[in-house]
Amino acid sequence: MVINPISPTVDFDQDGVQHGFLKLPYSHDQSAWGSIMIPITVVKNGTGPTAVLTGANHGDEYEGPIALYDLAAKIDPVDVSGRIIIVPAFNYPAFLSGTRTSPIDGGNLNRIFPGRPDGTVTQKIADFFQYQILSRADYVLDIHSGGRTLEFIPFAACHVLPDKRQEKRCVEAMRAFNAPYSLMLLEIDSVGMYDSAAEELGRVFVSTELGGGGSASATTIKIAKKGIENFLKHAGILAGDPLIEPTVNLDMPDGRCYVSCETPGLIEYTVELGEEVEEGQVVAVVHEVTRTGRPPALYRAGISGIFTGRHYPGMINMGDIVAVIAVPV
Ligand code: CA
Repeated sequence: MVINPISPTVDFDQDGVQHGFLKLPYSHDQSAWGSIMIPITVVKNGTGPTAVLTGANHGDEYEGPIALYDLAAKIDPVDVSGRIIIVPAFNYPAFLSGTRTSPIDGGNLNRIFPGRPDGTVTQKIADFFQYQILSRADYVLDIHSGGRTLEFIPFAACHVLPDKRQEKRCVEAMRAFNAPYSLMLLEIDSVGMYDSAAEELGRVFVSTELGGGGSASATTIKIAKKGIENFLKHAGILAGDPLIEPTVNLDMPDGRCYVSCETPGLIEYTVELGEEVEEGQVVAVVHEVTRTGRPPALYRAGISGIFTGRHYPGMINMGDIVAVIAVPV
């Protein structure tokens, strides 16, 4: 049996706060016997549940890392009952390069679970989380946003699960995170996702999409910070009740919620994120740019609902997401 080469410099069972690294050996031209040093904080006080908090699963999404580096610097173990494992930059090589996937192996950490202990750098990170981190977790929060190519209304999300008791616990934790929108998310392709790995192990799992465009705003950062604190209060790891404000509950009944691009070009949106749209309504047009005088291609909502997600850059390609529409419930 191959042992995962990642070694933590922290002791997961020690009380107090420890700031250290997940040390991943990586031999390359600039460092023959070098390691990738993934920052990690472990905060523990007595017995109680364990929450695992991650950001930058995709390296170009910033609310998670900002809120989690901030939390790690401020948290006092006396305020904790149980344990918090904080990894602000989950796919650390991708985070350092500001890209969705790893510049080392092209690995998309959220499509590669359960990983491999003898695989590429990204596969080794996934394998370590599968067997060393998720095994210790009760509550798992993975903070995403749209990255450089997508933008979303700020939502927390969970999934429809075969185990309805587990699904209920995930929904309760999503509601506790209390983003402005709470979404039962229909994934395009859930194979290899960290979400699925955590859910299959029976964990209470919540994800988010808090913004996008390859940056973070004051508003979305505030949502992340409040959501994390609420999530830890809900888990009973921090004292007190979550601060609950109004949220819009959303569902994604089927594939009509996604509109994909079939004509590359210059995209002109005709609605803003958060607006209500009717089935058949034009949400965007795409102008062909190789010549003038052509009528634009029209992209229509496949279902009535809230305009939830969109392509971010000004130019769009074949197969890119034009629109995500979710239905208020
Ligand atoms: Ca993401």
